[in-house]
Amino acid sequence: MKQPIYLDYAAATPLDSEVLKAMQPYLTDEFYNPSATYLGARAVRQALERARADVANVLGAKPAEIIFTAGATEANNLAIQGLMQLYPEAEVVISAVEHESVLAPAKLFKCKIAPVGKDGIVDLKALKKLITDKTLLISIGYVNNEIGTIQRLNEISTLLRQIRIYRGKINNKLPIYLHTDAAQAPCYLDLHVSRLGIDLMSLNGGKIYGPKQTGVLYIRAGIKPKPLILGGGQESGLRSGTENVANYIGLTAALSKAASLRQAEVKKVGGLKKTFLDGMQQITGAIVNGSQKHSAPHIVSLTFPGLDNERLMMQLDEAGVQAAVGSACSGSSREPSHVLKAMGLSEKAVHSSLRFSFGRATKQADIDEVLKLLKKFTA
Ligand code: PLP
Repeated sequence: MKQPIYLDYAAATPLDSEVLKAMQPYLTDEFYNPSATYLGARAVRQALERARADVANVLGAKPAEIIFTAGATEANNLAIQGLMQLYPEAEVVISAVEHESVLAPAKLFKCKIAPVGKDGIVDLKALKKLITDKTLLISIGYVNNEIGTIQRLNEISTLLRQIRIYRGKINNKLPIYLHTDAAQAPCYLDLHVSRLGIDLMSLNGGKIYGPKQTGVLYIRAGIKPKPLILGGGQESGLRSGTENVANYIGLTAALSKAASLRQAEVKKVGGLKKTFLDGMQQITGAIVNGSQKHSAPHIVSLTFPGLDNERLMMQLDEAGVQAAVGSACSGSSREPSHVLKAMGLSEKAVHSSLRFSFGRATKQADIDEVLKLLKKFTA
C-alpha cells in the first residue's frame, strides 16, 4: 500500500531514530531510579542532569530553571495553576486563541481574555487595557497550533517591564510574569528566554520528533509556583514522581536536534509552505487564515467557502492525504475552533476550514499531490 502523505505535524511528529537511540539504554540496562545511591543509579542521575543542562543550553537558561513534565498540558497547568494559587485575589490574562491546556486552567481563576485581530495576532492595546494592579500572569502562546501565527512576545515583555517599574513606584508588591506555551516553536523559532523576555515557557517533546507525554517548564530563577503533584519531591519539589529518565533524555535529544537543524528546516519547510500557498491561488475561493507575515513555516489554515471540512478531510484521507480539521489536541471534543471564531470567522467558515502542517519528511511531490487533490475536490 502507498504510504499516506502526512500533513498533520502540528498534531504529532514521528519519533526521530537518533532520539530513540538516545533513549534506548535508559529503557533497558540503565533502568535505575535516579534517586538511588549506588553507582549505576548515580550514573543515571548524571545523565538526567546532563539532559537538563542541554535543555537549559537551548533556552539560554540555567539547569535549575528546567522542570521536566509529562507534556505541554502539564507544563501549562503548572505555570498557571501553580502561580495563580499563590495569590487568590490575582488575575491572569490570556489571549482568545490559546490552547485548551492554557484556557482551561486560566478559567479556574479570575481570567481576562485579550482579543486577537483578523490576523490572529493579539491586540496589544486591548491587552494593555486588561492589565490591572492585580494582574499576576500573562500567558500568550508563541506559535498558534491551529493557524501558525507568531505572537509578539518581545513587545509584551517590554510592556511588562514598564509595568514592573510602575508597580515599584506605587509600592505594589504583586509580581507580574509572562508565560508562553511554545509547544509549536522549537523546530523553527528562537527559544532564548532572555532574548524573548519570557519568565516561564512550556515545551512539548511530542511535537518535535521526541516522545509523547514529555515536556518542560522553564521557570526563571526566583519564581516559585505551587506544585500540583505532591510526593517524593523530585524536580525541585515541583513535579513529584520517579523521573521518566528515558523520556526526558529523548525530549532533550529531540530539542537539541531541533535547535541544530532549525535554520535548515525554516528554509526547507518554509519553501514548501510557499509553494503550497502559491498553488493555493489557483484554487477558487480558498482563503488563508491568519497573518502570513508573522507565521511559522509549518502550519497553514485554509477556509474553503461552501465546503464541509469533515467531508473534505475524509476525501483527502481516502486519497491518501492526512490533514486536520482544526486542532487534534482537544481529545474527543469536536467543537468548532475557538481560534478561528476569535479571528472573526463565521461558524460556517469555521466548518469549512482545514489545517495542513508540514515537517521533516514532507516533500515537494507531497505538496504537488495535495494541491492536485484540493483542486479536484473543491471544483
Ligand atoms: N500547546 C500547544 C500549542 C499544542 O499544540 C499542544 C498539543 O497539541 C499542547 C499545548 C498540549 O500538548 P500535550 O497534549 O502533548 O500535552
